[in-house]
Amino acid sequence: TQFARVRSGEEKIYVTVRVRPLSSKEVARSDVSDWVCTNHNTIAYKHALPDRSPFPATYTLDRVFGPECQTQRVYEEGAKDVALSALTGLNSTIFAYGQTSSGKTFTMRGVTESAIADIFEYIQCNPDREFVLKVAALEIYNEVVKDLLASDSAPLRLLDDKEKGTIVDKLREEVVRDVNHLREVIKICEAQRQVGETSLNDTSSRSHQIIRLTVESHPSGVAPGAPATSLVASLNFVDLAGSERASQTHADGARLKEGAHINRSLLTLSTCIRKLSGGSKKSGHVPYRDSKLTRILQHSLGGNARTAIICTMSPAHSHVEQSRNTLAFATRAK
Ligand code: ADP
Ligand code: MG
Repeated sequence: TQFARVRSGEEKIYVTVRVRPLSSKEVARSDVSDWVCTNHNTIAYKHALPDRSPFPATYTLDRVFGPECQTQRVYEEGAKDVALSALTGLNSTIFAYGQTSSGKTFTMRGVTESAIADIFEYIQCNPDREFVLKVAALEIYNEVVKDLLASDSAPLRLLDDKEKGTIVDKLREEVVRDVNHLREVIKICEAQRQVGETSLNDTSSRSHQIIRLTVESHPSGVAPGAPATSLVASLNFVDLAGSERASQTHADGARLKEGAHINRSLLTLSTCIRKLSGGSKKSGHVPYRDSKLTRILQHSLGGNARTAIICTMSPAHSHVEQSRNTLAFATRAK
């Protein structure tokens, strides 16, 4: 886009961790919290670690949100800058990453809601530009892409377009009339996803959901499409599959047995993020093409795109292994 060319250089990935409160189930079985947020960007394991422990005692991210923290604050300090970048022509993506039941959907729902409110406020406060918003939503389950806004759920193909890069063929895109219309559309796609959840036995832990807002703008009174003045960018809200789907592969012996649960898109995303955060010079080839998720998001990741990852975790002792995996991912991504 125009703005992307003006603004050069690599954008850092903004990585935060959100610890949810202990759930009533966890409390009922006398589970306890293993973690304490020691300052605004550090989380520490509460207990003494053995000498030469393979695990760090503390993890430092861009920002850490404790169990008492409201979603509005997580949004403001963990995602708002990235969300608003789309208004100025930068492709942006906000991810929720974490094990199943750690709070991804809870967090993304609130973040999306807050971002939408801010975007409409921004548009209202900037009458010198005319904005057009479009929304699309899709789900990736077992490397099959489905439209969350179409009632028939035929698999969608990915095509390579010379100018636009990877496009999702026949993905339905609606022009947004107003903020309530957008909220309505998002509700519809959440309902679609929930149908899948009950009929296919926990699809939400295995599938990725992307809500994509496309923001186009041009100076008011100027014909749209005038190339020097138009801005186009997409803002992606991504609720990822449960991260246990990626970490299972690390237990080598379990590889074959757990084969059905390995999530190629999640694993490829982790690799791409690790390469991107390592700095373009050293990292070499970024394997975007190895999964549907990374192909679809390629132009909203790395380069001039802006990315925020909110890593969610349970504080419970019973989840310590997955929480460490999540914190290791977060540290690598930073
Ligand atoms: P995931 O999408 O990662 O599987 P959910 O977002 O569905 O997890 O969260 C699991 C449960 O925990 C839900 O009942 C949700 O309402 C609750 N929950 C998650 N995060 C929080 C939080 N920060 N505060 C209060 N409840 C939360
Ligand atoms: Mg969920």
